[in-house]
Amino acid sequence: MKFELPPLPYAKYALEPHMSKETLEYHYEKHHRGYLKKLRELIEGKPEADKSLEEIIRTADGPVFNDAAQVWNHTFFWQCMQPKGGGEPGGDMAHRIKETFGSFEKFREQFVASGEGRFGSGYVWLILDGSRLRLVDTPNAENPLVRNQTPLLTCDVWEHAYYIDHRNDRAEYLDVFLRHLVNWDFAAEQLQRATKR
Ligand code: FE
Repeated sequence: MKFELPPLPYAKYALEPHMSKETLEYHYEKHHRGYLKKLRELIEGKPEADKSLEEIIRTADGPVFNDAAQVWNHTFFWQCMQPKGGGEPGGDMAHRIKETFGSFEKFREQFVASGEGRFGSGYVWLILDGSRLRLVDTPNAENPLVRNQTPLLTCDVWEHAYYIDHRNDRAEYLDVFLRHLVNWDFAAEQLQRATKR
């Protein structure tokens, strides 16, 4: 079976105290692994089993889309964080954020507001839409790839992502994500790859 759970890019305790080992134990081992298990069951012996994860996301709907997108979204989300992360980006990303949002502080406010405003479960994304940066929030498993937009960064705002560490305070979680966890190098790589095409 070609769909495997990619290893976390860091140890489960490595994001402490900003994201606990307990959160990653549940979020990675139970939720992420659970979506993968369900996807494998759903596509076994079907044409989707020979497609890439991205192809499935772009073409499937219903439970197959949901589980495939959740596998992709979580794999992407883990890479959007790093130990000793957070702070502001440099280079082209810094320039584009200033151009689009006015300042990094305004970007931070909009990122938190976007994630906080997403009713129920979903994600907040920094995307490249054509040649412009944009912040979008999506419900449930939905992913910007289906709209031909390029995800640069995401934060999972399902309650399972923050309830252990922040209880119901989603805004605090989003703020901690930006101040202490975000991996701007990863986001910059996505931007560089997309703008080189
Ligand atoms: Fe999640």
